[in-house]
Amino acid sequence: MGTKIVSVSTTRKSLSNKQRALEILVRLKRLYPDATCSLNYSTPVQLLVATILSAQCTDERVNKVTPALFARFPDAATLAIADLVELENLVRSTGFYRNKAKNIQAACRMIVTEFDSVVPNQMAQLLQLPGVARKTANVVLAHAYGINAGVTVDTHVKRLSQRLGLTQHPDPVRIEKDLMGLLPQPDWENWSIRLIYHGRAICKARSPACEACQLADLCPTANKIRA
Ligand code: SF4
Repeated sequence: MGTKIVSVSTTRKSLSNKQRALEILVRLKRLYPDATCSLNYSTPVQLLVATILSAQCTDERVNKVTPALFARFPDAATLAIADLVELENLVRSTGFYRNKAKNIQAACRMIVTEFDSVVPNQMAQLLQLPGVARKTANVVLAHAYGINAGVTVDTHVKRLSQRLGLTQHPDPVRIEKDLMGLLPQPDWENWSIRLIYHGRAICKARSPACEACQLADLCPTANKIRA
């Protein structure tokens, strides 16, 4: 046991943050080879809407809401003219439903009027849409268009990147910048999607299972977090 602790510490301390990030990425790919976006959608607009709904809500809950929502309002054109109260009722269980419904409708109106009913595939244009910040834009670009424009920083990516000592920042935009400096661009979304899996399965917010964690020898907070 004592030998293991020495070895763990040596492994981590002998690597730069960039080397550690790359090794973590290799292991995450091995651990979660089939990781993908867990939101259900058929089109870029539906992915955009589902991602807006996923703020402060689980993907599982969003996936329970979107079948009825997309059956009633399948695209930007129908969402743009939807009755707002009906829209609110359809997304109510995802929380913050008034704000989400308002943003979804306003974003869809802009998509219809400014972007010929097509979700833009550029970061700057996506950020013009109401309710869309970098996290949502990164998800849409990566999964609807296959573009790695940034690193998606959700609550899991934020928590794990901090625990893994790859950023000291609390602000998602600063965290994203740190991660973009450590990881190869083609793997930016690979990182996020797999770290989300690891956050759900092992490195949970209240009680991380460090004893079962395949990243423990690379993690400066391994076995140091108490619920
Ligand atoms: S060792 Fe513990 S704190 Fe570090 S990533 Fe694994 S579960 Fe999270």
